[in-house]
This record gives sequence, C-alpha cells and structure tokens, in this order.
Amino acid sequence: MGSEIEQITVSMGSMEVNAYIVHAPEGDIIVDAGAEPEEILGKARNDVAAILITHGHADHISALDEVREATNAPVYMHPLDAEPAGIVDYQPLHDGEDLVIAGESFHVLHTPGHCPGSVTFIVGGDQIVGDLILPGSVGRTDLSGANWEDLEASIGKVMPLWKEDTRLFCGHGPVLSASEEMETNPYLPRTLA
Ligand SMILES: [Zn+2]
Ligand SMILES: [Zn+2]
Repeated sequence: MGSEIEQITVSMGSMEVNAYIVHAPEGDIIVDAGAEPEEILGKARNDVAAILITHGHADHISALDEVREATNAPVYMHPLDAEPAGIVDYQPLHDGEDLVIAGESFHVLHTPGHCPGSVTFIVGGDQIVGDLILPGSVGRTDLSGANWEDLEASIGKVMPLWKEDTRLFCGHGPVLSASEEMETNPYLPRTLA
C-alpha cells in the first residue's frame, strides 16, 4: 500500500505556501516548512522520521527550526541550497539516490533552475516538485541563482517519469494531475518524447 501525501497550505504574510506530510507505513515525513509550524506539526499522526526540503527559499524553510526542534528529526536538503540559507546541520541530498525513510522510498532528482539546490522527490508514481512546476506555470527564473536553461533541463528530467495518474505536489497552489498539466501548462512540452 502506498503512502498518503497530505497537503498543508500555510500563510506567510499575504503569500500561501504548501508543506506536505507523507504518511508512510512506519512514520511521517514532513516536506518543507515555510510558516506556521504548529499547523504543520498538528497534521502529524506518527513520529516524524525526517524533514525533507525541496529548496532553500525562505517561504519553504522559515519554520524549519521550530519543526526540527519539535520533532528532533534529521533534515535532508541539497548542499547548494543549505549553505546559502545558513543551514549546517543536515543530510546532503544527491541526484539519483533512493532514500528509504519510515518504510517509504523517496527517489531524489536534483532539479535546479528555480533555485540551484532544488530537488524533486518521487514517491511511488507521484512527484513532490517544490517550485519547479506550478499550476499553469513554472518556478520563477528571474531570482538570484535561477536560470531558464537549467529549469528546462530539470523539467525534461521529471516529465518522462509521468504516468497517466501521476500527481504533482507543488510549492504553491493545489495538487495537480500531471497529465492535465501536460495538456494545459504552456511552459511544458506537449509530449514526453
Ligand atoms: Zn522558491
Ligand atoms: Zn515557493
């Protein structure tokens, strides 16, 4: 049986950002902690086995200290984003690795473009993409450390793994159907080839 991925939308000032809890067979895994730590922690049903970070922008890590303190869980993120964010105590993520946490497997892809250390976590057939892909759009590439060429290459890395029922769990906005997004999102190529 697959894990359930629960979306938690929290507010950071006027902005909404998503965190996720993966309810895995042997515990919970929090993905991103941008704001409202009590809101995120309140959704845990089991011990939190790990905290995964999609990328180091403030809207994804500003509640990390509180969530880490409350759970004592190890933090996993990409070194290219940990260092600029001043995070030193963490487990570095590597492109192509498979992390097994609480009985669930997370396939890690380094997907830069929006941020140098952006990663995508593949859980079963679903993808937690951070701000790589957003509803009808993609992550901003006009920020420091961002560039369109990398973003395009990263999209080319995640899309071939999409199946008919793949869901995309984005940093902002609702959970997306990958096949719907492929048909309607003007930033994505129309085919997987
Ligand atoms: Zn971002
Ligand atoms: Zn964001």
